Amino acid sequence: MFFLLSLCMCGLLLRGDAQDRAALWRGNDRSGRCQYTFTVPSPVEASCPQTGGPEVEGLKARLSLLEVLVSQLSGGDTGGHQGARARAQSELQEALNRVMGERNLLQGEKERLEGELEGLQRRMEEMRRETERLRNRPCPPQTPAVPPSLPLQGSALMRPAGGSSPMSHLMTRPNRQGDSSGLRDSAWQHGSPGFQELKAEVTEVPAPDGSEDNTGCGELVSVGEPVTHRKADNIEGKYGVWMQDPEAVSPYGPNMFWRIDTIGSDVRKLFGYEDMEQLSKGFPSKVLLLPEQVESTGATLYRGSLYFQRRRSRTLIRYDLASESIAARRDLPHAGFHGQFPYSWGGYTDIDLAVDEQGLWAVYSTVKVRGAIVISQLDPYSLEVKKSWETNIRKNSVANSFIICGKLYTVASYTAPDTVINYMYDTETSQGKAMAIPFKNKHRYNSMIDYNLAQRKLFAWDNFHMVSYDLRLGRQQAN
Ligand code: CA
Repeated sequence: MFFLLSLCMCGLLLRGDAQDRAALWRGNDRSGRCQYTFTVPSPVEASCPQTGGPEVEGLKARLSLLEVLVSQLSGGDTGGHQGARARAQSELQEALNRVMGERNLLQGEKERLEGELEGLQRRMEEMRRETERLRNRPCPPQTPAVPPSLPLQGSALMRPAGGSSPMSHLMTRPNRQGDSSGLRDSAWQHGSPGFQELKAEVTEVPAPDGSEDNTGCGELVSVGEPVTHRKADNIEGKYGVWMQDPEAVSPYGPNMFWRIDTIGSDVRKLFGYEDMEQLSKGFPSKVLLLPEQVESTGATLYRGSLYFQRRRSRTLIRYDLASESIAARRDLPHAGFHGQFPYSWGGYTDIDLAVDEQGLWAVYSTVKVRGAIVISQLDPYSLEVKKSWETNIRKNSVANSFIICGKLYTVASYTAPDTVINYMYDTETSQGKAMAIPFKNKHRYNSMIDYNLAQRKLFAWDNFHMVSYDLRLGRQQAN
């Protein structure tokens, strides 16, 4: 009995003590609902064996909630940053690639110009030595070919042979066929483009006499106004060559046009267009990557093959369009290349290929003929030289050339908006003569001029522009 009483007393005493130190705690739970909690210190335990209780649980819940929120926020932000960073990196890479591409193009162009500069310096030195040599040689007695009072016409522009012109040695050299009439060629004697322009002003233009025949193979009578078909969109297309196969071979039709942009250190792309409309719109239906690099603007198409000069070599290549492979390759004997004997505009135009009614031709020069134009007719299958002609036209004195019906025509200037076709050499007679048929360089930098047999027009690449010219040919002479 005493024991029970003592126990009750202790309980009351303890309760009273506990009530003195009881505390009320109020706060929101995890869902935001207000909760009241009473706390009473333990009468026997100095500390809890483990943490817990509603307050800690509430804190834990809040902490978890915050952690989730922070994780979501930080995770989302990180994703956004990473996306933006990836996009920026991609744009930077693209810009870098573009800049590198342009740098490579410019590098290629710089190398080409340096090469041309070297060639020009070499030629200047040769001319200086030649001038020196001629100065030291006594002049033979001579009479002027034309009294100064007479009007200047064609061959009347001829300078006296043996004069002090640095080109005099070229004037006195007969061609291989012993043709001396070519010596009367003013283009040969006066190679500078400036003089050719002067000549253009004073030489009579042969007037059409109503005898032209557009189906025959007579001499060129006149060239029409340039018609622009397409402008290249980037620097690679400042110079180029565009072509049409006069005897197209399946799978390509006769209306197909082909184009090569020739600026760059790795010129290999051949673009094919279904027809003129697609070319004008700039929508190629075929792009071929050639196995060898192309040098300059002298390429041509014939019977299903692209013919071109391999870069930095005198090697001619026949590339079969149908099988997309090289069908023949052969060196053009002794031909200058890579700036040795270019046209006056440079551009490594050492070897110019052409197609006309009589087949495939190469226009070039050699060391032996000291820069004069050599014309060779080629076997279109094997690329072997069938026959050659040496003219008296200095190759670097003319802007370009084209062949129609076995006759080579040269253009005086590549920049003058109004220039002339100043010379014709006929392979049938091995005779040449000066002429002055008006010709326009509408865009003032003509890097390619060729006869297009399929349309009987001239095709040209004038300062980014692909242009064509109508032609009028005279009636063929009866021999
Ligand atoms: Ca040409």
